[in-house]
Amino acid sequence: MPLNVIVVGAGLGGLGAAIALSRQGHNITITDDHRKNLNVYDEWVLTHRVDLHNALRSIAAKDIDGRKIDVRLSSPVISVVSRVRSIFSGTVTDQVGSKDAEKGEVMLGDGSKYVGDLVVGADGVHRQSHSVRAIMGENRAIINTGQSCFRFLIPVEKMRDNPLTQSLLERIGLNGVHVFTTLDRRLIVYPCRDKRLLNCAGIYPPSSAEEIGGDASWHNAGSVSQLVNTFRGFGEDLLEMCGMAEDVKLWSLASRDPAPTFVKGKLALIGDAAHPMLPHQGQGAAQAFEDAAALAGVLTTNITPEQLSHRLDMYNKIRYSHAVTVMMMSRTNDERRAEMLHELHRYVPSAELPKDMFAFAWISDPVREAAQLVASES
Ligand SMILES: Cc1cc2nc3c(=O)[nH]c(=O)nc-3n(C[C@H](O)[C@H](O)[C@H](O)COP(=O)(O)OP(=O)(O)OC[C@H]3O[C@@H](n4cnc5c(N)ncnc54)[C@H](O)[C@@H]3O)c2cc1C
Repeated sequence: MPLNVIVVGAGLGGLGAAIALSRQGHNITITDDHRKNLNVYDEWVLTHRVDLHNALRSIAAKDIDGRKIDVRLSSPVISVVSRVRSIFSGTVTDQVGSKDAEKGEVMLGDGSKYVGDLVVGADGVHRQSHSVRAIMGENRAIINTGQSCFRFLIPVEKMRDNPLTQSLLERIGLNGVHVFTTLDRRLIVYPCRDKRLLNCAGIYPPSSAEEIGGDASWHNAGSVSQLVNTFRGFGEDLLEMCGMAEDVKLWSLASRDPAPTFVKGKLALIGDAAHPMLPHQGQGAAQAFEDAAALAGVLTTNITPEQLSHRLDMYNKIRYSHAVTVMMMSRTNDERRAEMLHELHRYVPSAELPKDMFAFAWISDPVREAAQLVASES
């Protein structure tokens, strides 16, 4: 039976889930508070993040087996309810067992409501997540990590025009990720868009309130002079490179502890709403896509209403411990990951410290796991 699914948030995770669920035959409505376009921020995984987001948008805009994904922009969600509740005799009663209780509900800023068989909470980390609130029953505090991050672009042509940066380019090449570190700051550099653009991230501990970037969106601008000054302890060629930076963004790296579960009633959390990912392992977008793939994998085309709750439990089983482990391991750089084990055990008591994060992240196959769990259902 096709499900009516409401996806809150049209970032990488929300669009990924909408496409994957639509391909399973379900009917999708996405709400996002952005007004015009969906280029919400700049992020690359050896791919220009905007190119990736645009590719998802164009897939989401096409018919999928005759169905259209209904994308509603300028539609800020102000509350998410995982079970519809009603007021009876002056008290709020959870109507479990009634027909209405089988619905998930999303309320928009203009007072309109969407009610569906399932709500996918993909509203990210930047503001208070209404999806997380629906799971926790209260807001989950946003944590200031004490780290800020510059993101910037440099056209490779520009690098070639300057002897210092040309020689840096010859040294590092255009085939992989390079990390330059001092004791407390790191510059990460990698090529994207057919090697025509360098994507760079500079992570550092801000020393004063003025240096701290805003965390309310992916759009906060930073300045080239601020960037060069922050990384003045690095080599001359790297500083010359920083001086060429374009489209400089500065973010205070915000996080939030994960909810104790990714599912409740008719609500499933995905992406940064479920596991706000810091950039140290480069896994945020990847884990959001794995969530989307796992969710679509358990919500098969022929699902019956009676199976939904059990299938959502399967999704939680496939994703929770893996994604929360990656999340905790992403809170600091690779050399200091062991320090995160204690924190990880608060959420995944049986977790072990991954020996090699690359192997741990890449071995995951949520589509296969979903197919196996669904097949084992009696
Ligand atoms: C500095 C930095 C570097 C990173 N590097 C990498 C990397 O190398 N590799 C990698 O894989 N990941 C990386 N990430 C992480 C990655 O970008 C995110 O984890 C990923 O984009 C999460 O996707 P999402 O869809 O969950 O959230 P988002 O992309 O943030 O989307 C959330 C969406 O929800 C919408 N929204 C929010 N509130 C509401 C509301 N109330 N109503 C309606 N809509 C709402 C927003 O407008 C937005 O469109 C990095 C992150 C940072 C900060």
